[in-house]
Amino acid sequence: MNAADDSVELSRRLIRCPSVTPMNAGALDVLQAFLEAAGFACRQLPFSTPGTANVDNLYARIGKGAPNFCFAGHTDVVPPGDLNAWSVDPFAAEVRNGRLYGRGAADMKCAIAAFAVAAARHLKNTGGDFPGSMSLLITGDEEGPAINGTVKVLEWMKAEGETIDACLVGEPTCAERLGDMIKIGRRGSLNATIAVNGVEGHVAYPQHADNPVPRLLEFLARVGGVPLDDGNEHFPPSNVVVTTVDVGNTVTNMIPARAEGRLNIRFNDHHTGQSLSEFLERCREETAGDSELEISVSGEAFLTPPGRLSEVIATAAAAVTGLSPEMSTTGGTSDARFIKDHCPVAEFGMPNLTAHKVDENVETADIEALSKIYSAVLAQYFEDI
Ligand SMILES: [Zn+2]
Repeated sequence: MNAADDSVELSRRLIRCPSVTPMNAGALDVLQAFLEAAGFACRQLPFSTPGTANVDNLYARIGKGAPNFCFAGHTDVVPPGDLNAWSVDPFAAEVRNGRLYGRGAADMKCAIAAFAVAAARHLKNTGGDFPGSMSLLITGDEEGPAINGTVKVLEWMKAEGETIDACLVGEPTCAERLGDMIKIGRRGSLNATIAVNGVEGHVAYPQHADNPVPRLLEFLARVGGVPLDDGNEHFPPSNVVVTTVDVGNTVTNMIPARAEGRLNIRFNDHHTGQSLSEFLERCREETAGDSELEISVSGEAFLTPPGRLSEVIATAAAAVTGLSPEMSTTGGTSDARFIKDHCPVAEFGMPNLTAHKVDENVETADIEALSKIYSAVLAQYFEDI
């Protein structure tokens, strides 16, 4: 393979590794071989935690100086699901009619290949003479519990004195066409379960019972009854969604002893997991009586205000695609939620139309275009210094 400019071929090699979380299946070795040939120093970082699967990760760097421009991504993929529903083998990396098919094509092996090739191209174009460093932080634990992945790599980097100054996460951010969207933050996410306790009894004698259902409904109405905020320039309003109400009462003549409900809140940067937990607890005290509330915050809201990093990406995307990308905070969580504590972070990658779906695919022309965009990002980033 002519390593310096075949992002499609490298994408195919990565897709042929069936790296369903937490399996590495050789994907990191394929990437490491490519990066080492280009001159990168690579460290594979296997991490384990009791009760979770072991996960392999990779940190690769070339250059010693600052700034260190980091590309972050994941080689793990979600399972292919029903193989009969696919029109191709999800791990054969077939190209048909200008499209590369396979699990992980959109999310996000092609972006990793596009960046690795862009970095190799940047080295070739500059003869290795550029101010600063380039690095890749690649995990095998993004689609899973995300315990032995990016979080642990970032801890390892801190212990090693490895710093990054800007980070581009290659998640599939584009909505319809390559170049239409950059993510500059994400909403936070909180799940809550409330169990309301009562006293069971006969519906004909409610004075001898204590029905938990009205109190549960009052709690849910209080939480969801008023808008949490109006949103702001970069975020839509936060929203509360009641996801289930469970009483499990199979008869018509009994007042139940217990009622449960669950809800999810997607929240913007007006709130934190802590402030919303306090809000929910206040609502519980005011409405639910004898009850228990369990809350888990799966990610805080964050924003990298539009600045140099997002501008460099937007300019590069516009130059290659002719589109001017929207700066968005929509969508689910990604490992950017961990990286944001270390340096400015923005996300830009493939269109996500087929991510996690049967027959996941991308246009091969988009892989090459994305690689060109990443090249332009590197050139501009280091030129500005
Ligand atoms: Zn992803």
